[in-house]
Amino acid sequence: MSRNTIYLDMDGVCADWDRAAEAFLGIPPRLNPINGNYTVTEVEWNRLKEAGHFYRDLPLMPGVDQLVDLARQYRDILGWNLFFLTAIPSKNDVPEAFSDKVLWAQEHFPDIEVHFGPYAVDKYKHCRPGDILVDDRRSNCEQWTAAGGLAVKVNDRSLTGAIAALREDLAKRVSLKNLRDLSLDLV
Ligand SMILES: [Mg+2]
Repeated sequence: MSRNTIYLDMDGVCADWDRAAEAFLGIPPRLNPINGNYTVTEVEWNRLKEAGHFYRDLPLMPGVDQLVDLARQYRDILGWNLFFLTAIPSKNDVPEAFSDKVLWAQEHFPDIEVHFGPYAVDKYKHCRPGDILVDDRRSNCEQWTAAGGLAVKVNDRSLTGAIAALREDLAKRVSLKNLRDLSLDLV
């Protein structure tokens, strides 16, 4: 049986895109009530593009170490793959986004490989049944679930709920594994 994978989104989950955008623009991204995403205007986006290496220099999300440590336990205890699954801007208009995201990961979490959608709408194509995605975008989570995966959604720019959900899921899987190991020992 092939191994399952747990994927962590970067922007809005591990990297604090919104906080960096607010610091640069002087105004925070606003919630789009239709798709539930925090977004900036086109004018603001054009300014961000000029920032240069915006993605490389993103700050960490508060609580990300706890989230990543949990994800590592899927890898280290359960034997899963662990990857970042990130997307490039929808118009592919930030040429350095690919390398900046890899550099960001290498600086903060060098044990985790970066996989690209490449676009957000492609993320679900990475899903094999049972794979987990932690993501802050509603559409990504819905498409992931429809593809047979388990989506853990980050809400309200806070990792608290996602950490709790992941901790609960992991605990169940570890208990099952321990039971399985025990029954194998008894055979
Ligand atoms: Mg995101």
